Amino acid sequence: MVVSRINIWRILSPNKIYQKKYFSTAVKGPFNHIGGAKTACLDAIRDVPVREPSTGNSLCNVPASGANEVDRAVTAASQAFRQWSKFSNSERGRVLLSAGGKIRQYLEEIARVEVRNTGKPIWEARLDIASCADAFEYFGGIIASLAGQHIPLHNDTFAMVLREPLGVIAGIGAWNYPLQSCSWKAAPALACGNTMVFKPSQFTPLTALMLADLLSESGVPEGVFNVIQGEETTGSLLCQHPGIAKISFTGSVATGVKVMTAAAAGLKKVTLELGGKSPLIIFDDADMTNALKGSLLANFLSQGEVCSNGTRVFVQETIASQFLDKLVEATKKLKIGDPYAEDTVVGATISKEHAEKVLKYIEDAKKEGAKVMCGGERIHLPSPLDGGYYLSPCVLANCHDGMRVVQEEVFGAVLSFLTFSTEEEVLKRANDTMFGLAGGVFTRDLQRAIRVVHKLQAGTVWINNFNVVPLEIPFGGYKQSGIGRENGTAALDNYTQLKTVYVESGDVDCGPLLKD
Ligand code: NAD
Repeated sequence: MVVSRINIWRILSPNKIYQKKYFSTAVKGPFNHIGGAKTACLDAIRDVPVREPSTGNSLCNVPASGANEVDRAVTAASQAFRQWSKFSNSERGRVLLSAGGKIRQYLEEIARVEVRNTGKPIWEARLDIASCADAFEYFGGIIASLAGQHIPLHNDTFAMVLREPLGVIAGIGAWNYPLQSCSWKAAPALACGNTMVFKPSQFTPLTALMLADLLSESGVPEGVFNVIQGEETTGSLLCQHPGIAKISFTGSVATGVKVMTAAAAGLKKVTLELGGKSPLIIFDDADMTNALKGSLLANFLSQGEVCSNGTRVFVQETIASQFLDKLVEATKKLKIGDPYAEDTVVGATISKEHAEKVLKYIEDAKKEGAKVMCGGERIHLPSPLDGGYYLSPCVLANCHDGMRVVQEEVFGAVLSFLTFSTEEEVLKRANDTMFGLAGGVFTRDLQRAIRVVHKLQAGTVWINNFNVVPLEIPFGGYKQSGIGRENGTAALDNYTQLKTVYVESGDVDCGPLLKD
């Protein structure tokens, strides 16, 4: 998941809409938000240290909430469900539209906290938070039109199909798009009349708490949206809680398997937004400048920590060498620096451990014969950024499909450059992966683009663009990249269940069971 509208950065001028309200308090406890109030965790299993990626300094310690705290949050959400689910769709819509407005009002401030917590550059954080506002406005706007069905049957008998909320939703988020992954779940879930207990990633606990406050201020009743902090144990307790009707999860495939296993024990519904290793296919008739921009969008947003990234860039042999030169030249120019600086393009990797993992992939790729065309190194910035984990975006050439770096999700700014000869060949290779989150094709030949779209095994395919995800379109994975869809009207199916009501207009006909 990525940018909803890349060009919005032009209209979000820095500081213009910066209203200082939460920034100083966001990084201090208490850290849970239950029943409409910030609350201290009463049964922390342990404290989780959170570091600021841009400096490596300690940011805060958050509690790993235990079973009692999980239960307290689920109970608050269950109680709130009785009231919230009885609001009319338009009443809920009005509240969510107001929440969208509040997020916009405090956009700059929330974006700044997101930068502090993720290390991503401010220009991207603004886009992320705008996408959160989009989510509340989109689902707040469409929910009044959510309707069931009327199905005429024999004589005047008919059936109605009602759409009802599910109950308490467990939302579990990833660290790369902390508030976006939260809002993309909370907005549709709440719009449909559900309530939520959201657990942010232990690396990025802060902005979900700001959202909880803003939702309260917008008129969301207490207990409808709750935040509990924690890591694996807390997430696992939440998934196992009998009061949870559905789990909406964003994270890795490995954790997704655990979440689905826990859900299976209680036959809970799941939406899983998981990892990817998406192909980007560039044919020799493509507009070169657009294909170049697409390749950068597909690889170097948020330090490459993007699930849908098109990290396998397949370029047709006839233009490969020329395209590679341009790609390397453009990648070398990406400015790495202080994430708060307006001219920084690439910020800090989330943690030291993750930065080391990304560098290890590059080292292994070199051993397997890849050639580093640029980047792939730790960048040391002057104090106070000297403890931050800055990596230069990397382009790898001489890649082949069998390499680890080409097969596995690196989740860092590492582009694998691959060449191909024919359409048939590249489609076979593009689909040769367990993932199926996204894909892209650059060509001026519309018929070829359509053929490629039909053959790519992916939940989203961009023609002549990449990584642009407006709220109006469904987003989710094929194969091991996920189950279910977020965004678009498809999300409403994932947060409602159907109740069929058969209405008899005449006498009951039970055949020979009982004669009149
Ligand atoms: P992760 O799987 O390590 O953690 C995700 C969340 O799950 C965290 O909140 C974590 O605390 C929680 N968790 C861990 N163990 C759990 C358990 N047993 N039960 C319940 N919850 C548990 O993922 P991450 O490192 O935070 O995020 C990176 C991954 O997320 C990448 O694979 C990326 O592709 C994926 N991702 C996917 C999307 C998408 O929309 N498809 C979006 C963003 C990130």
